[in-house]
Amino acid sequence: MGTSPAGVLQVLLEGNRRYVSNEALHPHQRPSDSPQQPLAVVLSCSDSRVPPEIIFDQGIGSLFVVRVAGNTYDRLALESIRFAVNHLDTKVVMVIGHDQCGAVSAAVNRYPDPEAGPMITNIYAAVEQARRQPGDELSNAIQDNAILVAHKLAHEQGMEEKVGSGQLLIRAARYILKTGEVKLLD
Ligand SMILES: [Zn+2]
Repeated sequence: MGTSPAGVLQVLLEGNRRYVSNEALHPHQRPSDSPQQPLAVVLSCSDSRVPPEIIFDQGIGSLFVVRVAGNTYDRLALESIRFAVNHLDTKVVMVIGHDQCGAVSAAVNRYPDPEAGPMITNIYAAVEQARRQPGDELSNAIQDNAILVAHKLAHEQGMEEKVGSGQLLIRAARYILKTGEVKLLD
């Protein structure tokens, strides 16, 4: 169970549950030079309030983390993610957006300015989608951005085959700043 993609997802959600309920175990907090076999890749925002190892109550060697403001990816980030999936046998990729995201907020404000720079323009697809939905535009854009990035990643060369055969699970999630809860999206 622990090594299937679904089992790994459960390990992450269980760690988050411990974190939320203030029962964190803080596992593996000491230096290690053992070969790494991280459970999951986490693509999260650089926001200082969303540190993956803490919010999932994980330690050294558990998470292969790529952080970019706005949790999108470029070619360099994609190659990092691919490295974990192809060479470290990592079975889950989680894309995490969060409340009050400054990068998504900037994208909402700058859209459709093409000169805004890649950190912002990478989020425009989510802004476009959010504008057609009822409710809070920023909140919708945060949610849509995580979902769109996860979908895009799932169709990248090398990823699509593994997702199709059930070897790899790519999920979008949203981190709730106030409670610390990670909620799966889709
Ligand atoms: Zn953010």
